[in-house]
Amino acid sequence: TARIIDGKAVAARVRAEVARDVAALDRVPGLATLLVGDDPASAIYVRNKRRLCVEAGMADLHRHLPGDVSQAELAAVIDELAADPDVTGILLQLPLPGHLDAAPLIARIPADKDVDGLTEVSAGRLALGRPGLRPCTPSGVMVLLDEAGVDLAGAEAVVVGRSDLVGKPQGALLLARNATVTTCHSRTRDLAAVCRRADVLVVAAGRPGLIGADAVKPGAVVIDVGIHRGEHGLVGDVRTAEVAEVAGAITPVPGGVGPMTIAMLLRNTVTAAKGL
Ligand code: NAD
Repeated sequence: TARIIDGKAVAARVRAEVARDVAALDRVPGLATLLVGDDPASAIYVRNKRRLCVEAGMADLHRHLPGDVSQAELAAVIDELAADPDVTGILLQLPLPGHLDAAPLIARIPADKDVDGLTEVSAGRLALGRPGLRPCTPSGVMVLLDEAGVDLAGAEAVVVGRSDLVGKPQGALLLARNATVTTCHSRTRDLAAVCRRADVLVVAAGRPGLIGADAVKPGAVVIDVGIHRGEHGLVGDVRTAEVAEVAGAITPVPGGVGPMTIAMLLRNTVTAAKGL
């Protein structure tokens, strides 16, 4: 049965490395998390980011704005953070309340402070293979693949999902490491057949239990990005128990990709502090 890739342990190691890097810098990096409104899930995510930011020795420059803040007011806050030399990284927690338009707000974040890697400039830098800040979840997946000892050059990599946040940057990151990349999405014909080609299968479809053993090549490395609150706790996009019977290695949910995301956010903040 498959080896379990322990994302919790890897994330703790990355955070320890980040803390060492921070201690070696001549000024303290500052992470500005920007939370709008009172969505409970967003509040929990932001609280964890702030806590681990402080644990890594960085300054917590959090801003909480009321849920009825206007587009112009929020834009002004982002501009202020963009101009503030104490602010190394800016993270706009998504989703925003319905009356706000995220894209033009994200566009105001300077690419060199874009620790979520979501601006057009960061996406362009990734697509062109230039140095830049990469989206946290897919770069966390790359660290897990390296930890699992996967030889990516020439490998068949299949990504399920093409979101701007995960699937698309995941494909670009795998391509940059010379994998042969296929991206699947909701219109893909015979998903299982395409997935069965994969030496490396990264699943970010947001569909609980989408991927079963019939979609996995024996010995493949399977990374499950999905997170869903099910009746018996958190579940992913992969039916872990049955896939673990055929896969060579697999990430659990929880404790796989999830913990990596914040660790990579902290690493991005240090990268932003050092300069790209
Ligand atoms: P999304 O909804 O924006 O994108 C889902 C993608 O999957 C789409 O491109 C869609 O075409 C594809 N898809 C949907 N149904 C499909 C199907 N039946 N077959 C093939 N492709 C299909 O979601 P996202 O933001 O990319 O997130 C994906 C999942 O990852 C979600 O469960 C989300 O909660 C989770 N997530 C986890 C983390 C983390 O830190 N672990 C971070 C981000 C997202």
